[in-house]
Amino acid sequence: MKVTMQQNKWTIMCRCLLLVLLVMPLLSFTVVIDAGHGGHDAGAIGKMGVQEKNLNLSVAKQLGAKIRENYPNVKVVLTRETDVFLPLQERADIANKNHADLFISIHTNAAENRNAQGAETFILGTERMEDNLDVAMRENAVMKLEEDQTVYQGFDPNSIESYILFELMQNQYMDNSLVFAELVQNQFVGTLKRANRGVRQAAFWVLLKSACPSVLVEMGFLSNAEEEKWLASAEGKNGIVNGIFDAFEKYYKQ
Ligand SMILES: [Zn+2]
Repeated sequence: MKVTMQQNKWTIMCRCLLLVLLVMPLLSFTVVIDAGHGGHDAGAIGKMGVQEKNLNLSVAKQLGAKIRENYPNVKVVLTRETDVFLPLQERADIANKNHADLFISIHTNAAENRNAQGAETFILGTERMEDNLDVAMRENAVMKLEEDQTVYQGFDPNSIESYILFELMQNQYMDNSLVFAELVQNQFVGTLKRANRGVRQAAFWVLLKSACPSVLVEMGFLSNAEEEKWLASAEGKNGIVNGIFDAFEKYYKQ
């Protein structure tokens, strides 16, 4: 009788342990932070000489550290932690291999019009695609710098026709991407008082290929002298890190 009771106790304990092991991966949350550009791809360059790749990396690393510090249960993965070149497809692959729950791609804008300023947060989509084609083309153009272009299956980042491909793609992560994008944009506009360029849709390869809610943040314009100064300042960078962190916190707790 005693043996049976002890056996029962062991069986229950084993079952509990098994249940915990089964449920644990479901409870863990993985965020992938992607610092755009890197290595021989500098991205946008400001008049003061600020390079997009460095700014993106600095914000991505600070954001990652802040999330790790405040949410030790959240797995934070950075697509790059140094100044290295990384193909677009590889960035999405990192998100998918890590079963990301959220993908945040960090970028900085540039435009011919030197007065253009403000922040915009993108989700994947084709609504009013023509309006945002220039940004998508610029950010996708990095493919041309990559050695192996076969992964893009003939997609030409500079050809408008190529973007028809995006119209055929259904994105099941649209709703959650939009929720997070709005939280991020609210921070830029509300807390940081940046000019509001809104939440927009565009055809970015990294967003198309990452199988989770994903956004691409354009933090501001390096082509605007004043904004370049702000982006490069500790105040600007810390503000952006805190802003995206607050958005993450709200999204994670929802
Ligand atoms: Zn960029």
